[in-house]
Amino acid sequence: MRAMTPAEIRGSIRNADERVRRTMLLPRGLAELDWAGRDVLAWRDSRARHRGYLVRWAGRNGTPRPEGLLLTIARAPGRPDRAVMCTFCRFTARFEEVALFTAPRAGAAGLRGDTVGVLACEDLGCHARVRQPPLRGPLDPPVEEIVAARAAGLAERIDAFFADVLG
Ligand SMILES: [Zn+2]
Repeated sequence: MRAMTPAEIRGSIRNADERVRRTMLLPRGLAELDWAGRDVLAWRDSRARHRGYLVRWAGRNGTPRPEGLLLTIARAPGRPDRAVMCTFCRFTARFEEVALFTAPRAGAAGLRGDTVGVLACEDLGCHARVRQPPLRGPLDPPVEEIVAARAAGLAERIDAFFADVLG
């Protein structure tokens, strides 16, 4: 994705009010970020620890505009003996590494309290996770193909989530 300015990131959040846009903490190391290698920027707020954000460029065929979502951690989903799968990257992790996030729906529905829930990596680190080199069997496709397929799947599921929340 193309780089975003701090103002673009703040202004992108579609399902929260002005107070959230003003007080949100941006990710550390924004200036050194590898923008080109990602489709979405996802991070947890290091001050308001229950908050996380997903930000990306939308409107691929027209003029691209920054589009972002606020997520709030509702609770740890599972039981200590269970592994849980992240909806976005489809990696399975220990129960405390996956959290139930909720996103208020944009617009009138959100004002009525409607939310969309999603089980996702607690650190929202799906981007890095899908790019970890896989353990590859002799009959598996090349590593780059596996990683490309994972990254494409992640982008698709993030797309679907944005569509769901923005209605
Ligand atoms: Zn994940």
